[in-house]
Amino acid sequence: MRLDKYLAEASIGTRKIVRMYVKDGKVTVNDQVVLEPATDINEEKDMIKYLGDKVVHDGKIYYMFHKPAGCVTARKDENKKTVLDYFDKVNCNSLFPVGRLDMDTEGLLFLTNDGEFSHQLMHPDKHVDKTYFFWAFGSLSEGDKIKLETGINIGNDESITKPAKIEVDKQGMYEELKEQMDIGECIKKKKNLYHQSVVSGYLTISEGQKHQVKRMLKAVGCYVVYLKRISIGSVSLDPSLKLGEYRELIIEEVQRLL
Ligand code: URA
Repeated sequence: MRLDKYLAEASIGTRKIVRMYVKDGKVTVNDQVVLEPATDINEEKDMIKYLGDKVVHDGKIYYMFHKPAGCVTARKDENKKTVLDYFDKVNCNSLFPVGRLDMDTEGLLFLTNDGEFSHQLMHPDKHVDKTYFFWAFGSLSEGDKIKLETGINIGNDESITKPAKIEVDKQGMYEELKEQMDIGECIKKKKNLYHQSVVSGYLTISEGQKHQVKRMLKAVGCYVVYLKRISIGSVSLDPSLKLGEYRELIIEEVQRLL
């Protein structure tokens, strides 16, 4: 395996950062400083150290992925592109997505081979906050915001959603916001929902019911046309990742999520 890949997978830093560490002479292979990040190492036999400490690579890998719309959050699909199709094939045998985003939802998705990590983030008792940016047809009154924040029935028997947080970014007329948001394509696809007024903002929820954000907003008369997850717990989508790109999580990020 390449030295930079090994270091990044051991969560020493992102691939870009570990390359800098290697070039700066902070990494040794069998006690010799190695300055070339692409150096081939033997994971079984070589002793890799970063700043004098042995690098522990326990085989667990964690990625942050910027999911584009149009792919399914699954390992395999007969007809459709999956999130794993964006990953280096050699890398992704053991990977699975942590939770799911709808086919038309973009944004932050973790992929890992660590079942415990996934459990910590997904188990309903853990209440991990997930923040979504939305853009919807409709408008949100103060009363609607209170309903969203305190709990609302989204069609599952008599129960209501857990407390959430809503922040409205902008309410306005469709034509006005369309100019600013540059997501005219989403709107075209949902023409049947055409509505004069539009609203955008952030909704933070701590559950993960199917289509939850869309259903919560629909329950107050808003139809989501664009949805993007921007953070999970205290980890936000890295702004340097373009749609379809991924990077390793660094150790501090993994620790913050556990
Ligand atoms: N809520 C939704 O409605 N869709 C998603 O993809 C995620 C949360």
